[in-house]
Amino acid sequence: MEFRTGQGYDVHRIGEGLKMWLCGINIPGEKGFIAHSDGDVAIHALCDALLGALALGDIGHLFPDNDPRYKGIDSKLLLKEVYGRILAAGWELVNADITIALQAPKLAPHITEMRSCLADVMEVSSDRVSVKATTTEHLGFVGREEGCAVWAVVSIRNQE
Ligand code: MG
Repeated sequence: MEFRTGQGYDVHRIGEGLKMWLCGINIPGEKGFIAHSDGDVAIHALCDALLGALALGDIGHLFPDNDPRYKGIDSKLLLKEVYGRILAAGWELVNADITIALQAPKLAPHITEMRSCLADVMEVSSDRVSVKATTTEHLGFVGREEGCAVWAVVSIRNQE
């Protein structure tokens, strides 16, 4: 059995009057992420980690942000498509570990739902999907509440 590792990173700017989507969950509040898609920066980082594990490029390449088909798209559909490519190539998820850097709001109340949402999209058990949240102690663009940064790491194995 062979194992692969992938990592992904994404940043989105925060804007007023937008819905905030993270890990497929709507986070209540007055602010969201400025993006061509629904702005789910955590799913985008996860997609890049999955693609990276098999050297399949990145989501910007797969789903160009100037393509009207992807305007406002639910990022869960992008994850479904990306994970489908992993499965089609004969691989499956071992585990994913995601770290979200966001100053506000606090994400702790949403972590369990985020994990099960991502697990449901990939049809894996939620103990294979970790979501962690941190602030940056008011430092940098995250700390000034200008943006959100997400790191994702995945391990996959082939299904033989
Ligand atoms: Mg993105």
